[in-house]
Amino acid sequence: MPIFRPTRRRSPDAPRVGSSPKAITRRCLDSALACASSALPNEFGGVLRSDEPGVITDLLLVPGTTAGRRHANFQLYMLPVDLGVAGTVHSHPSGALHPSDADLRLFRHWGRRHIILGAPYTSGQWRAYDGNGNEMHLDVVGPPRGVAPPATYRPKVVHRDSEPPVPPLPTDDE
Ligand code: ZN
Repeated sequence: MPIFRPTRRRSPDAPRVGSSPKAITRRCLDSALACASSALPNEFGGVLRSDEPGVITDLLLVPGTTAGRRHANFQLYMLPVDLGVAGTVHSHPSGALHPSDADLRLFRHWGRRHIILGAPYTSGQWRAYDGNGNEMHLDVVGPPRGVAPPATYRPKVVHRDSEPPVPPLPTDDE
């Protein structure tokens, strides 16, 4: 039984380094707004992933992310090495839609698109930014959110093509 197993084959037009998302699905955006609302009075933070070229499709909740009233701390070392990962999303209970200085440091460090959600988290209370903190337009596409909860990132299903095989666990019965 393989230890690492790809969940799907990467198609030739899969998102690549250099492709920036131009859109987000309504379902993904609504999930993020709902998570932000339920996290009040604290901030909410998550990771955005593109499963289609140029479209942010998935909201991932990262284990170890701690939410506070002033900030959400991302545990970036927990993130998958995955070209589909597009950036971050987090909420501002204050309602501010512009990035803080700490946000700008996060944006520059990692990811191509970052979304800030502002309380009261109604459908228009969000802005998207690039890695330099410049506001970017994202189209909202697709049908409204269904009942499915956001996915939780589980390290055991991550597949890295570049990763060497994991040696078998030592056995005691030698
Ligand atoms: Zn912020």
